[in-house]
Formats: sequence, C-alpha cells, structure tokens
Amino acid sequence: MKQFQTESKRLLELMINSIYTHKEIFLRELISNASDAIDKLAFQSLTNPEVGLDRSDFRIRITADKDARTLTISDNGIGMSAEELEENLGTIAKSGSLEFKQKLADVKADESAESQSASDGSPIDVIGQFGVGFYSAFMVAEKVTVQTKAFGADTAYEWTSSGADGYEIAPCGKLAAGTEITLYLKPDADDENYGEYLESYRLKNLIKKYSDYIRYPIQMDFEHTHTEENGGSHTHVETEIVNSMVPIWQRPKSEVSDEDCEQFYKDKYYESENPLSVIRVSAEGLVSFRAMLFIPAKAPYNYYTRDFQPGLQLYTSGVMVMDKCADLLPECFRFVRGIVDSQDLSLNISREMLQHDRQLRVISQNLEKRVKSELKKLMDENFDDYKKFWNAFGLQLKYGILGDFGAKKELLSDLLLFRSAKEKELIGLQKYVDAMPDGQKYIYYAFGENAEKLPQAEPVLDAGFDVLCLTEDSDEFVMQMLASFSEKELKSVNAEDLGLPDSDSKKEETEKLEAEHKELLEFVQTSLGDSVAAVKISEKLKSAPVCLSTQGYVTLEMERYFKSLPSSEGPPMKAERVLELNAEHKEFAALKTAYGSDRDKAARYAKLLYFQSILTSGVEIDDPSQYADLISDLVV
Ligand code: ADP
Repeated sequence: MKQFQTESKRLLELMINSIYTHKEIFLRELISNASDAIDKLAFQSLTNPEVGLDRSDFRIRITADKDARTLTISDNGIGMSAEELEENLGTIAKSGSLEFKQKLADVKADESAESQSASDGSPIDVIGQFGVGFYSAFMVAEKVTVQTKAFGADTAYEWTSSGADGYEIAPCGKLAAGTEITLYLKPDADDENYGEYLESYRLKNLIKKYSDYIRYPIQMDFEHTHTEENGGSHTHVETEIVNSMVPIWQRPKSEVSDEDCEQFYKDKYYESENPLSVIRVSAEGLVSFRAMLFIPAKAPYNYYTRDFQPGLQLYTSGVMVMDKCADLLPECFRFVRGIVDSQDLSLNISREMLQHDRQLRVISQNLEKRVKSELKKLMDENFDDYKKFWNAFGLQLKYGILGDFGAKKELLSDLLLFRSAKEKELIGLQKYVDAMPDGQKYIYYAFGENAEKLPQAEPVLDAGFDVLCLTEDSDEFVMQMLASFSEKELKSVNAEDLGLPDSDSKKEETEKLEAEHKELLEFVQTSLGDSVAAVKISEKLKSAPVCLSTQGYVTLEMERYFKSLPSSEGPPMKAERVLELNAEHKEFAALKTAYGSDRDKAARYAKLLYFQSILTSGVEIDDPSQYADLISDLVV
C-alpha cells in the first residue's frame, strides 16, 4: 500500500469526514475531469490518425448498479499511465486543487471547523467554492477504483483506495483508452442517503444542474416499461444523452442570465467572487467567433510576477486547442479571462502556426475594442466597481501605456485614474478636462500622495486649477509618454512656466527681483557648491519660503526611480536641482540681513533653506548629520 502525500491525505480526510451539505458536487467534478481528458484526446485526434476516433465518438457514460451499490463514470479520453496515476491521484494536482490547498492552509489552524456548519467559513465551505476535483468522490464513496489506459499504451492500470490509509496501483485488463471511475457508495445513515446517487432521475437532475454545458454527450441508460395490449408488460433499456452539450458561450444571450455567466466563471476559475464584468461577443465577418470574457475583481496572487500565465482558452469547432492563448489579447489586457471559440481557425493548428495566424489578430483586435469599451462603461456607470478594477489592475494599464513605445496610449489614456488634489478622490483624465475652468490651458500634476500640500502646487490650486497626484514610480514616465490628453498638454507643477493667468506679469516681476538680488543669489549658489545647478527667485511660491525644482530632462522622481533600480551601468542619473527662493518670505529677508552683516551665518541660512526645500519635495536628505548640526547651531 502506498501512502498519500501529506496534503492529499489531509484533503482526503476532510472529504471522508465531510458534513458538507452539497456533496452532490462530486459528480460535477468527475464529469469535468472526464471532459478535460476527452479534450486532450480530441485535440490529438486532429492531427494523429491513430487516435481512430471522430469527434462524434467521444462520450462520457454514467452507470449505476443498485445491487452492487456502485456508480461508474467512464470516458474515452486520454487516460493515464501508471506514472500519471501515481502523480495525479497520489498528490494534490496543480490548478484548482493547489489554490484549495492554500486556502486549506489558511484555515488549518481551526481544527474544530469540521464540526461546524457549512456556511460559516469553515474548510467544508471551501469545498463549495473551489473545484477540489477527484478527491471529492470520497464524500460519498467508501472505496474508489480508477481503471485507466493511456492513449497509445499497452497496459491498463487500476488504482484503488479506501481512503486515507493509502492506495494501490496494479495492472488491469481494460481494453480501450480512457478512464473508468467506480464509486462504492457509503452505507446510508440516519441523516445521509447515499443511495440516491443510484437513482437515475436524481443523477439526471444533477447532470442537468451542473454539467449541462459539457460539450461531450453524457450518456445514461434508462429503463422503459411498456404495457402491452394483452395486459403484460416488457421492459427495455434506452441510452439517452442527458446534457444539452451546448457550452454556455455558444448559447444565445437571451437564454443565459448574468448569474449563469457569473456562476460559470466561479466554477471554472475557482473564484469565490463574481467577475466585475462579463463580456459576450458574437462576431460575424472576416473571422466569425464567439467569446465570453471576464474582468476579474482582484488580481491573482502571482499576477505581477513572471509566474502568471495570461491567455484565453481557445476552441476551434468545439475542440479545445489551447488552454492559454496569449495572442488573443493585447498585453495591456492580460488580466482578462475567458474563452474564444471559432470555426474559422484552421484545424491542424500547431502552437507555432497559431502565433502567426492572421485570423488570431483579427480576433484580438476585436476583443481589444470590446474590453476597452466595457472598462469605459464600468468607469462611467459603476465607478465603485471601476475603482476595484483599478486597484487590482491599474498598474497594468500604466505599464500598457509605457509598453511598445506608447502604441496603446490612445486606447488606455481615458482609463487611467489619478487622485485629484481638489476632489480628494480618484478621477479620470476626461473628468479633469471637463471640469477645467476657462483660462486653464494645461493639465497639472504633482508628485506625492497629497499634492495639495506641496509648495509648488499652491499657485496652481490658488488659480482654481486642479492638480493630479502621482504616487507611483512609473507615473512620471506615463505622463511623459502621454504628453497630452484631449489636446491639453500635461504639465508638472515643477515646470518653469506654469502658464497660469498671471504668469506674464509674474515673470516680469521675477526678472526684476533677480536682477536686484543677483549678488545674493550667486552667494547662495557658491555656498551650496555643486548640490544645486542654479538658484533663483521663484515665480510660483506663495506661503512657502523655498522649493526645489529641476532643469533639464531628468526630474527628481526619475532620479529616485533610477536609484531604486538594482544596478545600472555608469554613474547614477542625477537631476539638475534648482533652488527657488520666495523673495516675499520672512526667511528670505533674514537671509538678506545676514548677508549684509555676517557671511558665515548667511551661508548657514542658505544651507538650511536648501535642506528645507529637500524636505518639502519628499526627496531623501543625503547628509542628515549636517542638517542636524545646522539646526543645533541655530538653537544654541
Ligand atoms: P484537477 O482536475 O483540478 O487538476 P483532480 O484532482 O480532479 O485535479 O485531478 C487530478 C489530475 O488527474 C487531473 O489534472 C488529470 O490529469 C488527472 N485525471 C483526473 N481524472 C481523469 C480522467 N477521467 N482521465 C484522465 N486523467 C484524469
């Protein structure tokens, strides 16, 4: 007897002792595995004549034997080799079970949960949310056998287990490729009637309820009794196809409710939360296809890592040809999940060919438009949901703007959100532009969570113009890439010319002041050495004494961004810092007085002002101890 891997054993015990009220889902799980196995062989049959089966030959059979108390689910799919049996049924497999395992670890501490009711977040409840697959059979069976023969193999094998003790694998006499799973149902107890899973009508209802969309026929035998004219009767057996076989994405919109789609999503992707949107596409034309796409409400835990595999499931004429076809969507929408089904794709597709398929591009362009307009609609009509989306995938959209040299910026710019300093809330660029008062020429942005507190933003806000707060390292590049929106140029509040209504008169005034204080400004510059590239009288400061701005291409934010990168070639990129002084401020007056009487003191004031400018712009101070010394000098 072989032992189950630890997690598998734990999952199994959970199943065996389950008091979960929806044990019936075991049938859905086994049928879905059977369908997946057929998918795999059907795919091979497209290119491999040795499969010897037509699409119409594939089927799943459900047989109940009341005398033996067994229920059998058999398929003529790909089957499993001895190694696969070992690997797939001895350990928790990938996909859904893995996520389940993680969920399980979360609730593991709560051992008593098994005795709780099913609806209070206990592990049992998790069963309903996740596809836990094969092991769910042990909710209703005391013993399970799996006879299976891998396509192309010579030997078939039987896997047997009566639960957590372990399992055995031995050769068996199964002739055709495929898998046959037999459940030996548990004895009925006071509160549980397992015998119901031997009743044809009950099985039929379950299949209708959970597996109607399975694209292969699910066959069952039904007994029909005819009464004859002479009063006698005879019974004959007829095989029926119980499911309608039309997958949900192929059914007319009028027949499938939003709830149906959401349930399908949750079952298929093992999600507990509804998607934010369901997009249904039925396209005719150059390439005809149907698609059902979902916008998830949260990002998978590995979404922003290399492990995440984007892509839509691709079907051609009802056969699944690819599980994750990334070419069906642009990179910027890689969070979208779903299915594309087209009869127009060449049937003997290989992965390589797919990548170059012109038809795929047509589909992808169409889907890109649909996803875009769906997101826009969500933004306009259900902003709370859109914010959820933005939290999960906003960063992806920003990357999308930066990628491909800005090729997608038109597509994505009106989907971006930024915090508005005025509204103190996320807003889109269109909303910003719509609210621009007369006389505002630019869209202003500043760096920081609360731009309203930045000295540089003050004149803009005072002029009655809103400022967008940038918080992410990449935001600066996003703004540079966009350059403008709706014909309005984007402008940093650090820009030299802010284009405010009083800019011209201010400029003149500032020039005068600069001439007047030329000597003092030069003195400050010399005192600060090469920390700053220039010192000047500010045009924009109102209540703050100083601010730091930059000249040239590199901004403070870029400098910080490049500094955060692991290691870059050559010297670090440095911004050319400009110290801007407010000539109206008391501190400036103090500096001037000191310059007249005590040059040492004036030099220290200059340094303090520089530190002040650094602090208010949120940049790190290079030399905190020098700053501390200056303060202490001032106090004593
Ligand atoms: P999941 O289906 O989530 O991967 P399961 O525990 O249901 O997890 O199944 C584990 C694996 O066993 C499957 O991924 C598949 O490879 C294999 N398997 C299960 N049922 C069958 C079947 N009827 N035919 C072939 N392989 C199967």
